[in-house]
Order: sequence, then structure tokens, then C-alpha cells
Amino acid sequence: MIIDTHCHLDKPRYKNIMNLILENAQKNSINGILIPATQQDTIENAKILADSYQGVFYAIGFHPKYAEKYEDALFEKHLKHERCIAIGECGLDRGRLSEELEICEAVMAQQRKVLIAHLEWAIKAQKPILIHLRDKWISSDKRATVYDEFLEIVQPYLGRLVGGVIHAMNFDRDDYVALAEHNFYFGIGGQLTFDNMKGLKNFIKKAPLESLVLETDAPWLTPKSRLKDNQKVSNEPSFIVDVLKSLSELLEMKRAELEEILFENSLRFFPEFKELLNYAEGYNLGKIRKIVQLGRPILRKIAKEVEDIKSQEIQNLINDLILTCIDSQGMGIASPQIGVSKRIFIMASHPNSRYPHAPKMKPKAIINPEILSYSDEVEKDWEGCLSLPNIRGLVPRATKIEVRYMTQKGEIVQEVLEGFLARIFQHEFDHLNSKVFIDRVESTLDIVMEREYMRILHEK
Ligand code: ZN
Repeated sequence: MIIDTHCHLDKPRYKNIMNLILENAQKNSINGILIPATQQDTIENAKILADSYQGVFYAIGFHPKYAEKYEDALFEKHLKHERCIAIGECGLDRGRLSEELEICEAVMAQQRKVLIAHLEWAIKAQKPILIHLRDKWISSDKRATVYDEFLEIVQPYLGRLVGGVIHAMNFDRDDYVALAEHNFYFGIGGQLTFDNMKGLKNFIKKAPLESLVLETDAPWLTPKSRLKDNQKVSNEPSFIVDVLKSLSELLEMKRAELEEILFENSLRFFPEFKELLNYAEGYNLGKIRKIVQLGRPILRKIAKEVEDIKSQEIQNLINDLILTCIDSQGMGIASPQIGVSKRIFIMASHPNSRYPHAPKMKPKAIINPEILSYSDEVEKDWEGCLSLPNIRGLVPRATKIEVRYMTQKGEIVQEVLEGFLARIFQHEFDHLNSKVFIDRVESTLDIVMEREYMRILHEK
């Protein structure tokens, strides 16, 4: 098993080929991926991917290139999320700077400030930090390199940090070998396969084997072996096997033996990836399915009882439903809505602009559900439906229900649901019984268009 400890899977170029990319990864035994954040725009994408696929986690941070966009509030928010397991990537980058000294120093001052903010968060949250360092050689310039600058900045934090990764390691310095004693790791990727990497190779031989982890930095740093006729090729997690091959040659170790050690290193550092050991297949690959709209006969049919929950067919269906629900940002989705008449639905309550007070939960599958009892108390509130886009209705529902259902693992659960969760359950349950929410409104006057609904919500 291999963990790609640094992969920008959130880049838009992967969006339409995500299943292919992850299947390739899986075939090459890359079963875990950590997506580092680079700036605000991409963090949400990273979070959605981590929510959608087992084996995918993300980190929160600002790449030094985006240091001026740093936003403290985002850390508070994302560090509460159980799949946000690290801080970064952050660091120092002189590589892209102008040679004009003054501009350069102002930018670097900001980068240093933001790096320190990340270090503080790493200590506060007790999470590892992902460090990006890139230097530029200006011959007439005697300033410290970013490598010196980083060591100076990190020094006072060393005892208190959980640890860190120097990502895309590509230089040779003994004082960095010493960082391993403070639980710093070194990310080895495609750069190892480039020409003229003598410094890195020296470093790898000196550093403790226990301090190395694999990474791609995809879409960048594509291994040399994948570049044909100087054409640009995006890197992807499956290409990490080329790095593993180079590394095993350099260290004169058997590939399988090295793979196992590097996997253990990654697990020691990111213990959350231990969940990979709980299932053999790797990513929980779902497919985003088309949602059928009102008028399709299947929405008006009673759905069929599920017989074998553990069958591959049903497990795949559940994974597809979860992914489709997350992708469409729904609070729930029922199997007939993707054209399959089975008694399964997903509940995925989360706050958003339409339902700012919705409780947050991990999407879960409800199979062969029953409603055992309804409260006398009924409340009218707004509902919408992925199969009836742009319409909202005021729907009366019992405020409290007792329910029984089976989970994705086949366990039987009996529980009492209240408020918004009771509402989602009743809405999705209706889908299995050929009903949609507009069948439940007391009057057609209780139906409004989405745009008007948002206005009503704001006026409240
Ligand atoms: Zn619905």
C-alpha cells in the first residue's frame, strides 16, 4: 500500500476524470491521498473530495504564493472537520519573485508572517505541518536562502510541533537531516527521477529511512519516465510507482520491502490513514449519477425491498447515491431519484444558505426503513427536492418520529429523530412510497419558486 502524501487532486483538470484517476491509483496500490490546500478557492473542492472518497484527506493552508490571501477564520472552520488532518501547504518561495530587492523583501516579509501563523495553528490544533520551500539563486545577493530562513523561523516551535513534512525535498543540507529528530519527514516525488539531482540523492542516503514519505505533488513534478518527446504530461497518483522504483534503486532495497516501510512512515505521521487498513478495496469509488426529474414514472412507483445489502450491486448503488448527494449538495437523496427502484435513501444534513440551521452529519445510507410512530405535533416548514428543482413548498411533517432501518454494513438501527432530521427522513421515505413533497402541501399557495423563497428567507 502507498500513500500519496501531497497531491493537488482538487485541481479542476481532474474533475471530469476523477474516477479514472482514482482507479489508476488503486490498480497501482496507491490507496491513500492527502490533498494540501493552496488557497481559499480550492479548499472547498478538497473538502468535497475528502468527504466523497475513503482514503482521501485534506489539509488547510495557504501556499506562500498566496500568502497575501491568508484568512485566519478558515482554519477555525476546517480544523473542526474530521477529514482535515494537517496544516499546509505553507512556507517560503523566492522562486517566482522579481529581482527588485524592495518588492522582493516586502513579499518575503508577508510570507514569513503567514508561515508563523501556520506554525501557531499547527501547535494549537496539534496537527502536522506541510512545508514548501523554494529558493532562487541571485548571484550578486548575499541574503540568507529560504532554507536558512525556514530553520531560523521554525527553531522556537520545534519542541511543540507534532511534526512536519518538507515537501518536494530537493536539496542537500545536514541541518535538515537533523530535523528528523523533531519528527520532520521528507517528501520524495518525481524530482528524484530528474537529471542532476545529486544533492537530493546524497540527502536521501544520509536521512533516516524512517523519515521518508512518498508524494507526487501532482499535477506537477511528473516523473521523467512519463514525459514523452518533451510533451507536458500532468502528474497523477499512479505515477508514484516510478518514484518508488527510483528510490529502491538508489537505496538498493527491494521494492516491496521499501514500499512497506514508507507506508508505515506515512501511517505514523498521518494516523488517520489507518482507516485504509479496514477495507481491502481502497477508494470507495462511487459514480455521480443523473438525477431524474418529476414526470419520470419511477418516481411514482413503490420501491422494492433490498434483499442482500452486502452484495456488490447494492454497495455500489449506495456509494453512487452518497457521491451524487454530495455532488448536488442535497440534504438527502432516494434511490428512485437516480432511476433505481430500491428502498434505500441517503441522509446528508449540513448547513447551507437555504437551511442555515441544518445540523451537520456524515452522509449515511438508510436501507429498508420503517417509521414506527409519529408525534401528534406537526410543523410546517420549507422543503425542496433534487427532482423538482427551483421549487420550494411549505410541508407539514411530524416533528418527532421513531424509525428503524438497516445501515450500509447491514446493522439494524432503531432511533428517535426530531426536527430537521425527522423532516429529511419523512421526505426521503415518501420517495420510496411514490410520493413527492408537493403531494403533501396543504394548498398550492404554499408552493413558491426558489428565487422568491430566497427572498422570503432573507426577509425573515
Ligand atoms: Zn426529494
